[in-house]
Amino acid sequence: MKRIGVLTSGGDSPGMNAAVRAVVRKAIFHGTEVYGIYQGYQGLIEGNIQKLELGSVGDIIHRGGTFLYSARCEEFKTTEGQKKGIEQLNKHGIEGLVVIGGDGSYRGAEALTRHGYPCVGVPGTIDNDIPGTEFTIGFDTALNTVIDAIDKIRDTATSHDRAFIIEVMGRNAGDIALWSGLAGGAESILIPEEKDELADVVQRLNRGTERGKKHSIIIVAEGVTTGSEFAKQLKDECNLETRVSVLGHIQRGGSPTASDRVLASRLGARAVELLLAGKGGRAVGIEKNALVDYDIIEALSHQHQIDRSMYQLSKELSI
Ligand code: ADP
Repeated sequence: MKRIGVLTSGGDSPGMNAAVRAVVRKAIFHGTEVYGIYQGYQGLIEGNIQKLELGSVGDIIHRGGTFLYSARCEEFKTTEGQKKGIEQLNKHGIEGLVVIGGDGSYRGAEALTRHGYPCVGVPGTIDNDIPGTEFTIGFDTALNTVIDAIDKIRDTATSHDRAFIIEVMGRNAGDIALWSGLAGGAESILIPEEKDELADVVQRLNRGTERGKKHSIIIVAEGVTTGSEFAKQLKDECNLETRVSVLGHIQRGGSPTASDRVLASRLGARAVELLLAGKGGRAVGIEKNALVDYDIIEALSHQHQIDRSMYQLSKELSI
């Protein structure tokens, strides 16, 4: 391939810039030109496309967000929209595309693949909910942001003898909640993959109080319910007072951790290798610290699975 394209799409995540940098540098290293498509699939349809040079991706490895910008684009869900996108790619002589994004963005890449256009998906989302990879780019950074918040909230919770509910992101996946809850020593972790009884949460709170515990932290994944809704439930049904903290979009921002930068660099470079080897319709990932790639259509038929042993461990450690 003489020319490839790269775009970031859907919810942004820290490390997307590092991934774009890897795509650009790796391709240029192999003598292939790279075009940046700005604003995801929306920009693709509109032809918002510019050539990227080595210098275009200088000084971005440590920055959160995505300098290519991201967007959501309903039109790209239609065959007509997808065909417009392919027309733009052909017009610019772009022979293959790297799509960095989450689940929805992968569906867009899958659609292009079905139309016969070579695409490689790179998992970029804080939610860690993409099948076929143990980790997604941005998850580790988001996790560290949440841990930082938990530690701070714990200080004030201790000072005031309070129970805190912390609502975290993750869409329909409980990974952010589970990992941050385990790392932050939370008393209870509510994730969509497991049905937690209110009685169990209350029992844990009471057990802690009985042994003189000064504070409690309950992590609620947004895929279960809102923090305020859960606080209301605890109040109405068990007369328990809690404070609620909704972390929101701070989880999406910030400088990517070393781990995310390395992951992004490895996955971005592998995506280019695949395209240059003429392998479209793939998605890249990491399993047991080794890079893997798999059929994107096949991958999307699977569901991301939570590590249930970690959930069990969190229960045992917060006894
Ligand atoms: P994320 O990639 O973070 O999961 P979204 O779910 O919003 O974010 O998806 C990003 C974009 O991917 C959408 O705005 C749309 O342009 C495209 N997309 C999502 N689902 C599909 C689909 N089924 N077919 C084609 N394109 C899709």
